[in-house]
Amino acid sequence: MMSSLAQTTITHNEEETLAFGRMLAAKLIAPLCILLTGDLGAGKTTLTKGIAEGMDAANKDDVTSPTFTLIHEYRGKSVSVFHIDLYRLETERELQTLGLQDLMQDDAILLIEWGEKFPWVVDRCNLQITIKRISENERQIKLADLKL
Ligand code: ADP
Ligand code: MG
Repeated sequence: MMSSLAQTTITHNEEETLAFGRMLAAKLIAPLCILLTGDLGAGKTTLTKGIAEGMDAANKDDVTSPTFTLIHEYRGKSVSVFHIDLYRLETERELQTLGLQDLMQDDAILLIEWGEKFPWVVDRCNLQITIKRISENERQIKLADLKL
């Protein structure tokens, strides 16, 4: 059981979002499924770069959007970070074919973009991070606990 991570922060440039992700990584305890919501260009992938770096699982430049591949895995020493993008998936059947259930291991942290499209995913996530574009370079990042 993890203590609540609920908080809201504002970043003023990409580097601050990366830094927030690195800081957040230190507080995340696997297993964890994170719903990462926000419009295209909000900064979901940018935040994931910071989290993967904070987990010692990847360098930010190695973290790219899984738009076409759907799942990217970054292995840290003690955790595996899975960055998942469900934007292109349309049906529950396609979702089940992806095999997300098999990724939800004890040492896994899943960061799922567009997971809110599927109740099956929402039901299995314990944290929601919502990123809102306030201006060209400002982003509001909100963390909310989801019911287990
Ligand atoms: P998403 O995955 O939500 O579609 P990306 O992380 O791929 O979004 O893209 C975010 C874009 O917004 C990048 O081009 C990034 O440089 C830019 N940006 C500007 N300001 C910020 C900020 N404060 N935090 C994150 N990204 C920002
Ligand atoms: Mg993205």
